Amino acid sequence: MIIALALVGYSLLLATVIPPLLFSARWVDRAPRLAIMSWHALTATVLATAIMAGLSLTIPTPHVSRHLAEFFQACAMSIRLQYASPGGWIFGLLGGLLAVGVIGRVTWFLTVASVNLIRERARHRRILDIVGRKDVERGIVILDCDESTVYCVPGRRSRTVVTTAALGALNDYQLKAVLAHENAHLTERHDLALALSNGLAKAFSGLTLFPTAAAEIVRLVELRADDVAAAQTDRLTVADALLAVLPNSGSQARPAMALFAGGNGTAIRVRRLIPPSNPLSRIQSTAGVLGVAIILSMPLLILGGPAAAAIQQDLCPSTSTAAAH
Ligand SMILES: [Zn+2]
Repeated sequence: MIIALALVGYSLLLATVIPPLLFSARWVDRAPRLAIMSWHALTATVLATAIMAGLSLTIPTPHVSRHLAEFFQACAMSIRLQYASPGGWIFGLLGGLLAVGVIGRVTWFLTVASVNLIRERARHRRILDIVGRKDVERGIVILDCDESTVYCVPGRRSRTVVTTAALGALNDYQLKAVLAHENAHLTERHDLALALSNGLAKAFSGLTLFPTAAAEIVRLVELRADDVAAAQTDRLTVADALLAVLPNSGSQARPAMALFAGGNGTAIRVRRLIPPSNPLSRIQSTAGVLGVAIILSMPLLILGGPAAAAIQQDLCPSTSTAAAH
């Protein structure tokens, strides 16, 4: 029970105290990839901690952590002892419902979102193959369109799409910058980061943490792609290129599942690119990665500490020992 309360407390702490700190932290825009990792670590840990809290109420904890292989083979005697205690079965039932509920919601929403995304991308690729012209040399699909737009359709058979208006608006160096931006989305699989955070936001829309994380990750993947493009060209070229592919109001050439070079928040991104680059130092980055590792490992420490103490106690006698009595 104490372990379950500690896990629930840790989960609530992560879900309420850390998001405002992370949201307002000034280092975030200087290290978008680390920030994306931090948001994912935060949401994953909150969910994992809730599942562990539920399981620790349902299955006696010392045996959960005693050996990983025995996780799902918890000792029948300990379970009997727990469920024989006053109210033990109620907590066991609530814990089971919590664990199964969280696992079920995550699985359902991520599966539905993934299936819809895969289907929508395949449909859009088929349309592109019909109406677009392949430019093999530049690795792009050219669309005849009056709107200046550049976007990518991620996935195993990805496409990078450039409209004829964008080709007219961008010089060669700016085109290189926007293609580097799109390539960063594709190679770093930003679509997966977005699919995960959006799926969790839908599954737990009532909890502020998850919609906040999803909105921040949408913004951060754009910053990250801008940084990659700036490293291959220069910051002002990327800024100019973003302005050249800004969407018109009422834009029709913007499929929902694609990742764009320009879009919401472009003005802020352009302002960010004007001063010189100011990335985190190696020590600061290492400290950030360590912070993420601590957030992720804390639930295991909460479970593992009492388990280590209990490992010397024979709370779960072996079959032979039990039979001798
Ligand atoms: Zn983008």
